[in-house]
Amino acid sequence: MKSFRKELWFNTKSRRDYINITSEIEKAIKESEIKEGILLCNAMHITSSVFINDDEKGLHNDFENWLEGLAPEKPYDKYRHNNTGEDNADAHLKRSIMGREVVVAVTGGKLDFGPWEQIFYGEFDGKRRKRVLVKIIGE
Ligand code: ZN
Repeated sequence: MKSFRKELWFNTKSRRDYINITSEIEKAIKESEIKEGILLCNAMHITSSVFINDDEKGLHNDFENWLEGLAPEKPYDKYRHNNTGEDNADAHLKRSIMGREVVVAVTGGKLDFGPWEQIFYGEFDGKRRKRVLVKIIGE
C-alpha cells in the first residue's frame, strides 16, 4: 500500500473566503501515483474548514449570510472566547458547522465525485498563513 502526504498553504486577503481547491487535490492525486484508495483532506486550524459543495457564487454568498446570521463576527464582546483577547470566536463556531475535513474515494486515479461536487477551503479568520493536509492511501 502506498501513502502520500502534502500540505497546501493559504493566506487570504480577507477575513473570510471560500476557495475551490479541487484542482490542487487532483494534482496531489497525480503526484501520489495512487489509482485506487482513499483521500482525506482537512483544515489544520480550528478556524477554517474543508467542505464539499457546489462551485456557484450565489451559494457562496448564501453560506456567508447564513453563517453570519448564526455566528456574527461582531460585536466581539458578544462571545466569552473573545475575553481571552482574541476576536475570532465566530470563526471557531463557523468552522464547527462547516466541518473539519472531507474523505473522498479515489478511483482510476481520479476523485470519485458526484456531478457537482467540488472541494473548498473555507476561511473564517484569515489574513495569515494557514494550511490544509492532504493524505492519500491506496495502490
Ligand atoms: Zn480563538
